[in-house]
Amino acid sequence: MDTLDSTEMRAFRREVRDFVTANLPKPLEQRCRQGFHPSKEDMREWTAILHGKGWSAPHWPTRYGGTGWSPLKRMVFDIELAEAWAPAPSPFGLHLIGPVIYTFGTDQQKERYLPRILDGSEFWCQGYSEPNAGSDLASLRTAAKREGDYYRVNGQKIWTSQAQFADWIFCLVRTDNSGKKQNGISMLLIDMRSPGVTVKPIITQDMDHYVNEVFFEDVRVPAENLIGEENAGWRYAKFLLENERTSSAYLPQAKQDMKRLREILDRMREQQTDGIDDEALDAECAALEIEVAAHELAIYRILTDNASSQADTAASMVKIQGARLQQRISALWVEVLGMHGLPLFQPHREHDFGDPAAMGAMSQFLIRRAVSIYGGTNEIQHGIIAKRGLHL
Ligand SMILES: Cc1cc2nc3c(=O)[nH]c(=O)nc-3n(C[C@H](O)[C@H](O)[C@H](O)COP(=O)(O)OP(=O)(O)OC[C@H]3O[C@@H](n4cnc5c(N)ncnc54)[C@H](O)[C@@H]3O)c2cc1C
Repeated sequence: MDTLDSTEMRAFRREVRDFVTANLPKPLEQRCRQGFHPSKEDMREWTAILHGKGWSAPHWPTRYGGTGWSPLKRMVFDIELAEAWAPAPSPFGLHLIGPVIYTFGTDQQKERYLPRILDGSEFWCQGYSEPNAGSDLASLRTAAKREGDYYRVNGQKIWTSQAQFADWIFCLVRTDNSGKKQNGISMLLIDMRSPGVTVKPIITQDMDHYVNEVFFEDVRVPAENLIGEENAGWRYAKFLLENERTSSAYLPQAKQDMKRLREILDRMREQQTDGIDDEALDAECAALEIEVAAHELAIYRILTDNASSQADTAASMVKIQGARLQQRISALWVEVLGMHGLPLFQPHREHDFGDPAAMGAMSQFLIRRAVSIYGGTNEIQHGIIAKRGLHL
């Protein structure tokens, strides 16, 4: 069994670290360190570099281009990348639809889509949520009507992250209204360039543009773009959501944020910046460091525990804790910076923050409020734990 400190793991860590040091372009590292959100080009460039080494999708089976690494090695890999300030790759292709395609897709679909996800040349977005179907996803109404070799799609998705630069959207659509809601849903792969697809931006409270509304008006989608069977989409949707929650423990981000926070505190203490003698801030930082370490151990236990009957409960637990940590760390980042933490960093605009460590602090604080919403809200995760874990 792997352990975090085995000789093999130490050698692996070193190999990853050496690769990242030699290959992560400096400007990319600099932008991520300063709190800029990676652009499409950043993600594309870094995914292509990782792909060159065979490391762009470590969690995929080897026959589809994965690495065959143990879950623990994958965790170490993700942490190393985050701590080196590499941009996180877009999750929608690599983590979400890729595994659905290689598990449920046809050979043609595997051949068509997987290589372009792996090398970063095509980007995806996730068309699940609708204005009246978020937590209650099965109420979705975007309709797909079969007409010969095509589906005609009409409806609207909302909160669609990265739709503004996605090439494809995987979409849950209603193909039957007659029975139980879950039984009339299908999953379609839709080309974002199709006539009738319109993307409208939603600007979030950090004044940035991640999320969108996506409208479908008489969009013709080839029937061969259906995943699996018609009306069986709920099964694929749930498989995907399980992966989304498991990959949402946010450990690499929490460790990256903690590292930055500690650096700021240490530097400020060295420079004797006013207010930083505050023992309460120091104690809170130490408490968070302990919680991040405990979070890491909890994930380690889940990854090395074969009792998979509790897998969905465990995924919900680490999702809640990961979100909570990200929110608390980003709040403390703003707090330790005092007045320098208050200005809102806006991409593509120059600001004088007074302190380089302040760049991105407020925008991270604001956008991190969303991590307890997307991928299933905290309340929904609590419901899963109560029902499936505690059998209440
Ligand atoms: C930044 C961001 C990015 C996102 N990206 C995407 C994306 O790329 N693709 C996509 O499809 N979706 C995306 N989402 C949507 C996200 O998945 C939904 O917002 C989320 O599932 C909640 O749905 P809702 O917004 O409709 O809220 P609602 O479901 O209306 O919930 C409102 C409140 O009621 C609570 N609630 C609802 N039902 C229950 C219940 N049964 N028990 C207890 N409490 C309950 C919720 O916890 C919440 O507090 C994104 C959201 C955000 C904020």
